[in-house]
Order: sequence, then structure tokens, then C-alpha cells
Amino acid sequence: MNMQADTADQKLRARARRVIPGGMFGHMRAAGLPAGYPQFFERGEGCHIWDVDGRRYVDFMCSWGPNILGHKHPLVTEAVQRQMAAGDCLNGPTERMVELAERLVRLVPHADWALFSKNGTDATTTCVTLARAATGRRKILAARGAYHGAVPWCTPHPLGVTAEDRAHLIEYVYNDIGSLEAAVEAAGDDLAGVIASAFRHDYGFDQELPDPAFARRARQLCDEKQATLILDDVRAGFRLTLHGSWDLVGVQPDLSAWSKAIANGHALAAVTGKDHLRDAASGLFVTGSFWCGAVPMAAAVATLDELERIDGPRLMWEMGQLFRDGIAAQAAEAGVGVRQSGPPQMPTILFDDDADFSKGSRFCVEALQRGVYLHPRHNMFFSTAHTVADIDFALEATRAAFAALADG
Ligand code: PMP
Repeated sequence: MNMQADTADQKLRARARRVIPGGMFGHMRAAGLPAGYPQFFERGEGCHIWDVDGRRYVDFMCSWGPNILGHKHPLVTEAVQRQMAAGDCLNGPTERMVELAERLVRLVPHADWALFSKNGTDATTTCVTLARAATGRRKILAARGAYHGAVPWCTPHPLGVTAEDRAHLIEYVYNDIGSLEAAVEAAGDDLAGVIASAFRHDYGFDQELPDPAFARRARQLCDEKQATLILDDVRAGFRLTLHGSWDLVGVQPDLSAWSKAIANGHALAAVTGKDHLRDAASGLFVTGSFWCGAVPMAAAVATLDELERIDGPRLMWEMGQLFRDGIAAQAAEAGVGVRQSGPPQMPTILFDDDADFSKGSRFCVEALQRGVYLHPRHNMFFSTAHTVADIDFALEATRAAFAALADG
């Protein structure tokens, strides 16, 4: 046997480099992860994923959010197959779209209506466009460092972006009331809206939950200026609560953007909004060839029903907290300084004295080699498929990873 033979992952990377720019693009590039992480996967089931070389991992990324009930959830698969047999891409939507909008209007306090698209970026962009259409104004306030998508008005990567694309964006600092007030002041009588993430989940930083006083002030300022408060719930939506993440701090936005977990891995995004924006929303021309696809909507109805039935956010909180407690105990035992931030369902684990993320990377690679897929910089995601046994398995791996770190 040739021990030097390329792995299936290496072979696929070589093929990909010939026909795909850079071999891979976007946030799922393995090049953005430490060496040793696979680029290509074969399958997923529950909270497990298998790479193309047949290695199994407990998955703490859930496809960067979408797989909230776990991969290949039987109820979602059944709904998908039933809808697939009837039709997916038709000349218009099916009854599934109305059912799904009804679910969202029932679950989400601020939601009087919903419209649908495919990706989180579609939803945030629609929210911003709608805020401008409804107010007839231009300025959008967005938190510095926050991610709202990958098109010119919001991408964190400047290549191909013109100054004009960002001309009417004003930055504030998340959770900083003074900076928000200054940004509102700077917008003057041209303020269309304020966009805020569910909590501060910037890449490579400790996460920060929303300060209720900050959220209330954002609401108050938008009310005073008759501007639109937009919640970007794309990443956090349905993991913390089924009622919109700022419901937890007692603040209702005018508009919310949703995607990721809404259809357990099927391509779907939604915008929900208050009644006073209904007319403006009806006038907006937002559309796409695949935006009415019935299969993702059937998946979403099944996903939301199941999350509600099992109280998914609570289950994910419990498993997340179990993992967090275990990591804290192991770090203390190993004498390694770690910071765990964000809601337990979406944890970020960063290491002290680790500006270049080398400790975090080493830790994650050690865990990966023991069958646990973590991320060294980005927040992670729990699903309702994670069980106590999976957390125990993961904590065995992280115990060994801490030991390896402590050994230098
Ligand atoms: N907003 C937030 C908060 C996100 O996390 C993301 C995706 N990471 C987006 C918007 C964009 O979503 P998508 O990648 O589906 O376009």
C-alpha cells in the first residue's frame, strides 16, 4: 500500500483548483481554517458529519447555522419528499408559502407579514431597501464590524466595492448608546433605518449579548425619527427563541431578516415586518427565479413546527451550557485561560494571549483529530440533535486538546 497516497480531500482540492477560482470561495473555504480541516464532505446525520475520507465528526458548526434540528432530520426529509413529489419550482408559490407566513406571523410578535427569498443577504438587503422605500430617506446605521452579508453595501471585503456603494452607511458601535446617538445625529433628517444584529457576533471577537438599554434606545430613536429598526436575526434566529431574538430584551423591531436555520438546511430566507411597512413592502420589486420554491418552504414549516413542539431553543441552551461548563472546568484544570462568550447555543471560545489565534487553532485541530469539529474564531452552533452522549464525547476530545496545549 502506498502510504503517501493523496487523501480523497486532497484529490478533490486538486481537481477543484482547476475549475473553481482559488479551489473554493467564500466563508466555507478550508483555507480560512487551520491545516488539517477537511474541505469536502460526504454526508451528515443528526449532529454528525463525515468528510470525504470517511472521518466522522461531532458537528459544532451545523453548516454555519442552518442545521438546527440536525442533519437529515426525518420530519424535514419527509416534508421535503412529499413536496418534491408534488412540485418545487412552479409558476408561482404553493400553499406552503402561506402556511409558512402564517407560522411566522403567529410566532413572532412584530411580524404582521412575511416575504421570502433565498439567502440572509437577500433578506438584509430587502430590509435596507424597504427602510429607504418606506421613509424616502437614505442613511442606514450599521454597527462597525457586524456582518450583514456579502454584497457591496455590506460586505466586509472591499474588493470590487465602490465608495458610492457605501455612501449612505454610517457606523455606530454595538451596545454603545452614545455612538448610536452620534450616528443618528450625523444622519440628520435623512435617517432611513438602523440595522442591528441579534447580539454582537463579530468574527474573531468575544461575543456580546445586547444590552437591553441599548436595544430600547435604538427603538426610541427610530420612533422619534420615524426611522425603521431592522433586526438582523439571520444568524441567531430560532436558536435563542422562536419569537425573534430581541424579544428576549423586550424590544420589537419594525423589520427582521431571517435565514440560516429557518428550513433546517434548505435554501430559504424571510423578511418579517410590522403593519405600517406592509404597503411599502407591497410596492417593492423583490424577486428571484427560485424564491417561490416550495420544497424549502415545506422544510421550513416542518422545522418550525418541530422546534416549537420540542422547545428547541431550551434543548440547545441545555446542551450548550453543559459543554460550556465542561470546557470551563477543563481549562481551569489545565491552567489555560479561555473566554467563552455569547449564548450557550452559539458559543465562541477564544484563548487568552492568543492574538494570532494559534492556541485556539491548535486546540481545534487536536479536537478535530479526535472527531470533534469546532471553529477557532467564529461562533459555533448547537442543534437539537446534540445529546448528552455527544457532549461527553466532545469533552473527552477537548480534555485531550487542553492537555496537548498545556504540554506546549
Ligand atoms: N447576517 C448575518 C448576521 C449573518 O450571520 C449572515 C451569514 N453569516 C448573513 C447576514 C448573510 O447570510 P447569507 O450568507 O445566507 O447570505
